[in-house]
Amino acid sequence: VAEDHVIGVDVGGTKILAGVVDRGGEVGRTSSAPTPRDSQEALLDAIVAAVGEVRELRTAAVGFGVPSQIDQRLGTLGHAVNIPLAEISFRDLMTERLGLPVALDNDANVAAFAEWSRGAAQGTETMVMLTLGTGVGGGFVLNGRPYRGWAEVGHIVVEKDGVPCQGSCTGHGHLEAYASGHAADRIARERLGPGTTAYDLVAQGHPALAEIGSYLGAGIATLANLFHPEVVVIGGGFGVAAFDLLHPAAAETLRVEALAGARDVPIVRAELGQEAGVVGAALIAFDALS
Ligand SMILES: [Zn+2]
Repeated sequence: VAEDHVIGVDVGGTKILAGVVDRGGEVGRTSSAPTPRDSQEALLDAIVAAVGEVRELRTAAVGFGVPSQIDQRLGTLGHAVNIPLAEISFRDLMTERLGLPVALDNDANVAAFAEWSRGAAQGTETMVMLTLGTGVGGGFVLNGRPYRGWAEVGHIVVEKDGVPCQGSCTGHGHLEAYASGHAADRIARERLGPGTTAYDLVAQGHPALAEIGSYLGAGIATLANLFHPEVVVIGGGFGVAAFDLLHPAAAETLRVEALAGARDVPIVRAELGQEAGVVGAALIAFDALS
């Protein structure tokens, strides 16, 4: 059947990964190319080329996970930190260039949908994911439906009047400023000296990771109180690498700060690796067909 195969595309800061995906979430042929970062035109061409490499006659739609805020009504991208795709009508543009239905969503949303459909949150109705990478991203599935809006969990206030947030955010004491890989790099430099990174903290099992885990737990408690999820999944490069060292303090803070009934929500490590973006992007492509 024609509508049984779509293409999921993970548009990352360093590479574009495209793959054919079936309804069961199985990934077939993939293609990978470096992300051109110098011009928008080169990036759009590279995306079209990556899709072209895996496209088949039976391809029914294409879904994109993009590191940017998305306006789903207009199909436009807002400010994207790492790639030159800001302020364009991405959905219309790609629909025209590919001649197929196109869906797009934020990369962290897409990672959450993938963990829900095939990974650590499989079989749940309501789940929350936090991705700890350069920043802190997030995504939700609520009552069995992927949530297709903002999920800026990195900007939950965990310390009023705390340290300044990262990037273009002008707030203070946000989760991202304490629990992102970038924040952990800063903490490593403060505690271990210049030239060290978050991965040195992890390698040493450094006590700073318990402090970071506690802030993570405060953010999780807020989300647990809002959504009462069945599971909280932690992903992202730093989140996966540091998971075992962040978990005890995060779970303890959750027990203290969450309401009864949300205190024991399991906090688990993401299961899908590199393919998560492709699988999640395919899921929204199937959604675009229904
Ligand atoms: Zn912020």
